[in-house]
Amino acid sequence: MSIEKVGRHTYADIAYNGANVGCIITEQGMVLIDTLFVPEEILDWDRQIKKLGDKGVRCVINTHHHFDHVLGNYLYKDGAIIAHENCYRELIKPDGAMTRYFVTRREDFTQDIKESVYRLPLALPNITFQDRLSLHLGDVNLEVWHAGGHTDSSIYIYVVEDKVLFTGDSFQPCHPYMGQAHFREWLRLLNATLKMDVAAIVPGHHVVCGKTELKQFIRFLRQMWNRAKKLAEAGARRDEVITQLRDLINYYPLANPGEINIQKYEFDFAVGRLYDELTAK
Ligand SMILES: [Zn+2]
Repeated sequence: MSIEKVGRHTYADIAYNGANVGCIITEQGMVLIDTLFVPEEILDWDRQIKKLGDKGVRCVINTHHHFDHVLGNYLYKDGAIIAHENCYRELIKPDGAMTRYFVTRREDFTQDIKESVYRLPLALPNITFQDRLSLHLGDVNLEVWHAGGHTDSSIYIYVVEDKVLFTGDSFQPCHPYMGQAHFREWLRLLNATLKMDVAAIVPGHHVVCGKTELKQFIRFLRQMWNRAKKLAEAGARRDEVITQLRDLINYYPLANPGEINIQKYEFDFAVGRLYDELTAK
């Protein structure tokens, strides 16, 4: 663990395996952003937040339904777990968190770790919303709204007093998973994000950053979009577009050795999905 103070009330930890987590300290208790998935890390983060404040956890907010952001919910199941309605709808499906889909293929995990992840009980969000939600917690106000892009369940969380934005995986300064993405919506979202008044962005993965990294990420998606569109318009087949765009996998370093093969496979899958979106009638 390595907690970073991102704003007057806002903390983040980006050192855990899998995803970033946030903690906002308010007069009415702590708000946790996402809950990790490796069992010891879930418990470690819980110990760390208890050192940050003594008012207890007021609520958990899940940025979207993917396993690396929701499996630690079980620790807070008696309280409020807030998410988009689509997050709830995904999570009630068998493997809706996509835990087995991803964890099974992690080459850096022992079978023991995998089994312990599969055994975690899933605590569903118990408060959901469609468009937006405001939380007024004494000295801190949070604005939460549907973002989309990365997934249908993706939301943004904005800490008004600190101007800190939690984007979940709809922005991350590294390779995103794009297997459930809507690319047109995603680019629209990111361009709107550029216009926001933000002091810091806590992405779903990788380092706390700002608009420079956001612009770099937009260029990545924009290149994918433009190149695939041009090829598709020139009559290239789906598999040809996938092959042609493969060099873009080098746009960001493939950092985690346990995920390299997943990322290559997923990148092909994502370009296919983009082709389908571009050619949909
Ligand atoms: Zn995700």
